[in-house]
This record gives sequence, C-alpha cells and structure tokens, in this order.
Amino acid sequence: METSQYDIAIIGGGILGLSTAMQLAEKAPQWKVGVLEKEEELATHQTGHNSGVLHSGIYYRPGSHKAQFCVAGLNNLVKFCDENEIEYQRCGKVIVATHESELGRLQDLYDRGTANGVPDLEVVGPERLKEIEPYVSGVKALWAPHTGIVDFAKVAGVYANKFQQAGGDIFTGAPVHKITRSPGSVSLETVKGTLQAKNLINCAGLYADKVATMSGEKVGVRIIPFRGEYYTLKPESHHLVNGLIYPVPDPRFPFLGVHYTRNIHGHVEAGPNAVLALRREGYRKRDFSLSESLGSLAYPGFWKMSAKFWKIGMGEIYRSYSKGVFLKDLQRLLPEIQNSDLASGGSGVRAQAVASDGTLLDDFSIIEGQGSIHVLNAPSPGATSSYAIGEHIAGLAVNNFGA
Ligand SMILES: Cc1cc2nc3c(=O)[nH]c(=O)nc-3n(C[C@H](O)[C@H](O)[C@H](O)COP(=O)(O)OP(=O)(O)OC[C@H]3O[C@@H](n4cnc5c(N)ncnc54)[C@H](O)[C@@H]3O)c2cc1C
Repeated sequence: METSQYDIAIIGGGILGLSTAMQLAEKAPQWKVGVLEKEEELATHQTGHNSGVLHSGIYYRPGSHKAQFCVAGLNNLVKFCDENEIEYQRCGKVIVATHESELGRLQDLYDRGTANGVPDLEVVGPERLKEIEPYVSGVKALWAPHTGIVDFAKVAGVYANKFQQAGGDIFTGAPVHKITRSPGSVSLETVKGTLQAKNLINCAGLYADKVATMSGEKVGVRIIPFRGEYYTLKPESHHLVNGLIYPVPDPRFPFLGVHYTRNIHGHVEAGPNAVLALRREGYRKRDFSLSESLGSLAYPGFWKMSAKFWKIGMGEIYRSYSKGVFLKDLQRLLPEIQNSDLASGGSGVRAQAVASDGTLLDDFSIIEGQGSIHVLNAPSPGATSSYAIGEHIAGLAVNNFGA
C-alpha cells in the first residue's frame, strides 16, 4: 500500500462506501479508487446488523434526502438484485394503529407516503388487516404491499465484487488512524501502510464524525450510538407473522418503534429498541468504552439531547432490561405473543448524528469539503437507499473532484 497513489480513497467498507466505490468505477473508470476498511471483513457493522427491510419511503418528509433516496433507491436496488440474482422478497408491510388516538398519525403517514410517490398504499380496516396478518389486532392499518426484505450484507458483497472486477482495490484490516492533508493530496495512515490519494470520501458509519474531524473538517455534529436489541421468535411461533408488522411511530423520535420482521433467511425477529450505547460498536449491554463515553459526555449536544429525551430514554433502558415490558409492547400489535415465544436475538448499533443544540438529525447528511465528501448521518433507510446514495456521491465526486 505504501507506494500506491490513488485518485480517490474511500474510508469504510459498509454498504454506502461499497456502493459509492462501484458507481465511481462505472461513472469515472479512469480514476484509481481504493477502499479502506478497518475490519478483516466487509459490512460487519450497521450493514451486517440491521432489520433487512427494503423500505418503501412512507415515513420521510416530502422533499427530504430520505424520501428522495429511499423511493429511488428501492427501485434501483430491486433492479440491481434482479440483475445480480440476489434473493429478496416483496412481502409487504402493515403499520398498525392499535388505538383511535393513532388514526391521525396513520393518515399523516398515508399522506406522506403518497406525496413521496410510494405506490399502492392503502388504509385498511380490521377485516382486511386480518387477511394480511391474521394474528394482528388493530383499529386500522396502512398496507404497503411493495415493502420487502433482503440481506444487505449480501448486497454490499456484490457491490464490492463489481468494484473489484472493474479494477478497484479494497484493503481490509486497515483502520485509518491518521489523516494528513496538503493541497491536492491526502495521506491516510493505517497499520498496513499509508495510502496516498488526491481526494477523500468518508463513509465510516459510526466513526464518520471522527474521520471527518481527523481530516480537518469542522462538522458541528457528533455521532451518538443507539443500540437496537432484538428478540427472535422460536420456529414454532413463526406462523404468527407473515411479513412486516410495525406500530405507528412516535413522531418525537427518529426510530420506528419495536416491530416484527420476517427476514430473508426465514427467521422472525422482534425489535429493535433504541438504547443509548456506551461504546460505538457496543453490541452487548455490558460493552463500555471510557474514552467514547467521556467523548459523548463532553459534547454539549449530548446534554441538550438528554434533557429533551430523558423520559423516552429511561423507558427504553427499562424495556431493554425487562423482557416483560418488551413483551407488553409487542402484545399491543400481536396479543397472542407470549414470553415463551421469544428467545434472545442479536443487536445492531445505529450511528445517529446529534447537532450541538441536541437535535437528532432526521435527514441524511452528506457534506462536501475541499477535496472531500463526508457521509455524516445515514441511519435507516440508509441500506435501502444505498444504490441511490452511492450514485449521488459518485456524481458529487465527478463534479467536485474533476474528471
Ligand atoms: C438496528 C438497525 C436496524 C436497521 N434497519 C434497517 C432496515 O431495515 N433498512 C434499512 O434500509 N436500513 C436499516 N438500518 C440502517 C442501515 O443499516 C444503515 O443506514 C447502513 O448500513 C449504513 O451503511 P454505512 O456503510 O454508512 O455504515 P456501516 O455499515 O457501519 O459501515 C461503515 C464502515 O466503516 C468502517 N470504518 C469506521 N471507521 C473506520 C476507519 N477509521 N478506518 C477504516 N474503516 C472504518 C467500519 O468498520 C464499517 O465497516 C438499520 C440500522 C441499524 C443499526
């Protein structure tokens, strides 16, 4: 790696870094592009620890990046899966109002989805809901027939293969720990040597803010990690869930609420919750990093966020430690579910950017610096949107970095 000179270095071998790499190889084949990934394997963090849902674009503010990239990204990604024989299913999803008080918000979701161009959305009553999901109880539901499921790590693997087949280089086990900038050049130090490039694209997920700061950028946000924990339904209880069953989300919070997901490997999962993690890659409750926790505590935005959300946050912690409370929430959607149906499942950690005033950034955030592009906030539906986001970043690179 020492002597290599690249046009573009991409930090992060998750689904966004790899989509960007693949699309750069298509849009600007004359450029030499290298991807640096700190783990020995690709796609082991958010990309490999999520719900695997191909979102259709219902929740997002019309005109936002999320709305735009999710709707376009779903279509592009499904086409990409067809062309590359990646298994996916359009199993459909219901968002269920379990109480009259949620009907206004359900209607708002219908309006948003329709404004975003999500096709064939339908508000259904209890009878139709029973046909779609026989065990679910609700006053009304929003039926999104085109929402689907896929294995995003597999998608990322195919992005990587295509990039490599086009001549791109991927270096794994190469955490970037120092970045030195000079006009027209950037030097990235890793344990495997130093990679020299003219330009930098930062897709470092949970460490995107640190990488941006390392490269001299003033980003004004901090990534705060939120762990999402899942239970898994025992095989004998799988019949309770046909597809994807979601609650009406709490509009004050950017997460979707604990839901049921039948994934592409045939497992049924329940979750995720959203608990503040004490380590950025802290997948277990006991995972703790003193420096990362102190980093969060020293950030004024963390305290402002805590002041705004402490009540919801305490509730999430309580639910995380009490299976009974988790179960109660799940029973709101599916009254028949019992403690004995649930076994412990996996978890994922969301990279959520928080502004200095304590606001949780709702939209995707992609910023452009001198000779650099940084993806600072790409939570859900980032994986669904990966094809469209990669295309967008590759387009920015062609414009900004010059062919
Ligand atoms: C619990 C959970 C559920 C979700 N559910 C869904 C869903 O159903 N549908 C959906 O569309 N989206 C979902 N998402 C969101 C989706 O997973 C993310 O938007 C997407 O994976 C982001 O991809 P990424 O490439 O930015 O991040 P990542 O996959 O985290 O990749 C970043 C990479 O950068 C590497 N890296 C970091 N620092 C360095 C460094 N210094 N040097 C080198 N490499 C570095 C990391 O090792 C990592 O591999 C979910 C996320 C979570 C956590």
